[in-house]
Amino acid sequence: MSRRRQIYEGKAKILYEGPEPGTLIQYFKDDATAFNAQKKGTISGKGVLNNRISEHIFTLLGNIGVPTHFIRRLNMREQLIRQVEIVPIEVVVRNVAAGSISKRLGIEEGTQLPRTIIEYYYKDDALGDPMIAEEHIACFGWASQDEMNDIADMAVRINDFLSGLFAGIGIRLVDFKLEFGRLWENDFSRIILADEISPDGCRLWDMATNEKLDKDRFRRDLGGEAEAYQDVARRLGLLPEGETAVLDLETHRKKRGK
Ligand code: UDP
Repeated sequence: MSRRRQIYEGKAKILYEGPEPGTLIQYFKDDATAFNAQKKGTISGKGVLNNRISEHIFTLLGNIGVPTHFIRRLNMREQLIRQVEIVPIEVVVRNVAAGSISKRLGIEEGTQLPRTIIEYYYKDDALGDPMIAEEHIACFGWASQDEMNDIADMAVRINDFLSGLFAGIGIRLVDFKLEFGRLWENDFSRIILADEISPDGCRLWDMATNEKLDKDRFRRDLGGEAEAYQDVARRLGLLPEGETAVLDLETHRKKRGK
C-alpha cells in the first residue's frame, strides 16, 4: 500500500488525502459489519463491486443533475471524490416495509408502503445511530432548513430514478440509505450527495423471486453475499462475462499474500 496520508477509516471504506486540495481518495474494503459493528466479516470482492456499482449510480445521478462528490474511478478499489463536510444525518428512504420499520411498527416485511417514507438517523456509533425527527435536526443545528429542503428534494429524486433503474433490471428497490455533505466554495456551501450507493446500504429484492440481493444476506446469515453483489453488478451491465475472472484473480492474489 502507498504512503498516502489516511484521513479516516470507516467500517467499509478508507479515505486518503487526494492528489489536489479539496479531493480525497475513497478506498472500498471487503469488510462487512452489521448491527452497529457487533457482527463483523468480509465479503470477498465486495469492495471492487461496490466501487463499480457506486461509480455507475453516481454517474447516472450526475447526468440527471443531482450533484455528487464523485469525480472519477481510479482503479478497482478506489475513486477520486470531492472533500465535503459530512452532514451527520443518515437519510433512509423506504418504498416497502423491511428491517427496522417492520420490527418497530409491526408491519410485515414486504408490505408495499402507500407512500414513500423518508427517515432521519443521527450518525453516532456510540449512540447506535438513533432515529431523529426534523425537530432535532433544527434544534441541535445539524443542518439548516434550506439544507434539509435540498436533502429531502434530492432523496425523492434519487428514489424515483433508482426505483426505475432497478425495476428495469428486475429488482425491487425496497429501501436505501443516503449521506450528504457540504461542499464549501469560499464562504458559501451547497449540499451534494456523498458516501456510496451500493448493496451495502440498499435493500434490493429480485422482483420475480423476492430473493435478497443485498447486505441482508450477511446480516441474516443467508450466505451467497458475494454472488448476490455480483448479480446486481452484472444486471447493471458492469460485469460482462470474463470480468468475474478479474475478481477471482484478485482474491487468488490476496490469498497468496501478494
Ligand atoms: N442502512 C445503512 N446503514 C445503517 C443503517 C441502515 O446503510 O447504518 C440501510 C440498510 O441497508 C437498509 C436501509 O438503510 O437498506 C434501512 O435500514 P433499517 O432502518 O431497516 O435498519 P436495519 O434493519 O438495516 O438495521
